[in-house]
Amino acid sequence: MTSTLPNDNIKNIDEKITNKLISEIIRDRIKNKGTRFSANDNIADFINPGELKVLEKEVASRIKDLLKSLVIDVDNDHNTQETAERVSKMYLNEVFKGRYHEQPKVTSFPNDKNLDEIYTVGPITVRSACSHHLVPILGECWIGIKPGSKVIGLSKFARVADWVFSRPHIQEEAVMILADEIEKLCEPKGLGIIVKAQHYCMKWRGVKEPNTSMINSVVRGDFRHDISLKQEFFELVKQQSSNNNY
Ligand SMILES: [Zn+2]
Repeated sequence: MTSTLPNDNIKNIDEKITNKLISEIIRDRIKNKGTRFSANDNIADFINPGELKVLEKEVASRIKDLLKSLVIDVDNDHNTQETAERVSKMYLNEVFKGRYHEQPKVTSFPNDKNLDEIYTVGPITVRSACSHHLVPILGECWIGIKPGSKVIGLSKFARVADWVFSRPHIQEEAVMILADEIEKLCEPKGLGIIVKAQHYCMKWRGVKEPNTSMINSVVRGDFRHDISLKQEFFELVKQQSSNNNY
């Protein structure tokens, strides 16, 4: 009798033999590379095609256990019978998709005309969750650019912001991570980002302050060194600001 090896590489065969949970397999890969996997890190490089579906099942079973520990009758309460599956899908593919999915494709173009006037894009709606309580952070973001050697389309800023913010975060770090990603994509001479957001861990729980918001900013390159440029950025953003409440 002859047997044929499946069309897998050795690493995958080893992983199948161990009978580990898919989350353990992914975690081991990350640890072997010595990479960080905090709540606001993207781990898409460590997830092979098809594995997200398996992870979705594992997370759903854990959420079902959580509901049971909360003494909710998931077997007979028709409202919560499929909650675990729904929440798992929501975490992995919607609200925390920025951890598990790759960055949306962004094509950059050479700055042939040597544009060097600053421009701002905003407000861009950002949605996140605090990594302390996993409740929503909803807000607006403005991005200011003094172009460098590369340019990207305006809509791409919104796509990258959505991808970065769709992870459990603290606002201060979210803004820094977004700045890093934009710098990688278009290498601007100057970059400024402002985020104004409301935190449901302050509105819905805790001190229950419904109208408090947090504003923070990051300025890099020429925006940091040239005070008049920085002022121009903040002035442009003021003109774009809306009065939306969340
Ligand atoms: Zn919180």
